[in-house]
Amino acid sequence: MRRASSAGRSAGAPRPRAEQAEQLGFEGMPERLFVCTPSKLGAYEDCPRRYRYSYVDRPAPPKGPPWAHNSLGASVHTALKNWYALTPERRRPEALAGLLKGTWVREGYRDDEQERQAYRRALGWLEAYVETLEPGADPLGVERVVAVRTAVLAFNGRADRIDSRPGPDGPELVIVDYKTGRTGLDTDDARGSQALALYAYAAERTFRRPCRRVELHHLPTGTVAAHDHTTESLARQLTRAEDTARDIMAAERAVADGADPDEAFPPVAGPRCGWCDYRRSCPVGAQVPGREPWAAMDRPAAPGDDSAAVAGGGS
Ligand code: SF4
Repeated sequence: MRRASSAGRSAGAPRPRAEQAEQLGFEGMPERLFVCTPSKLGAYEDCPRRYRYSYVDRPAPPKGPPWAHNSLGASVHTALKNWYALTPERRRPEALAGLLKGTWVREGYRDDEQERQAYRRALGWLEAYVETLEPGADPLGVERVVAVRTAVLAFNGRADRIDSRPGPDGPELVIVDYKTGRTGLDTDDARGSQALALYAYAAERTFRRPCRRVELHHLPTGTVAAHDHTTESLARQLTRAEDTARDIMAAERAVADGADPDEAFPPVAGPRCGWCDYRRSCPVGAQVPGREPWAAMDRPAAPGDDSAAVAGGGS
């Protein structure tokens, strides 16, 4: 991993916070960096209690059964990954059925008929999507891990795709994230996504090329929601991520010092509880009616639907 360097900076000039790697603590020891992925930060921002169940409690509480929408999202993602593993001349729509069958995850569906319908739907999405791709073009990275360190974070994440496209001053990188949830996405989703911003920030440093554009490719509707970040907007997202990391580390320290874990990691009840893996272990979530594992498969998409955010399985 590339470390930030102060080479070329005038003596005494303040370093941007994001470049201050491993500041020294009181006793000359490096402060612990918070090792994180976008999912880890997102879990805490959504609900500190869910974060605790996922990342702190050991053994972790039992999860509920697998979700069909997660299976669908994972199957489509892996099929697209394997699409790019084919040589360009073999990237033809006829290859998709075999790719999807080979990666199909069967868990969570109500019955064989629902699973068959989901497979046909997913194949249709993929066939329409590959028609939009530039023939023979290879991305810079597919399911590529990017990582970066700041004063607070040791961030790493796996971007669905990183494209290199011509820009006014040379090649520029674009972060592409596939979505398979039931509702469409707009530019606000692309602009507000902390995960995409962190991928862009990390990709720029990993590849030493500008990376400001982030895109959400929604396969069910064939739409692309995009946002072009600036240095400032990336810095804002990074600051937000660092603030979250500090909150998490403070809560973990408090528990280590004897605080009540239930108070350090409070539950945040809401419509998401019905879709939470830990609902049955959570006193707040247990009051909320749970969803069937296949519930996101059946109902028509509707704006503001509370399953919209989960129906892509974080995909
Ligand atoms: S059920 Fe709700 S309150 Fe409980 S951990 Fe899950 S999201 Fe948080």
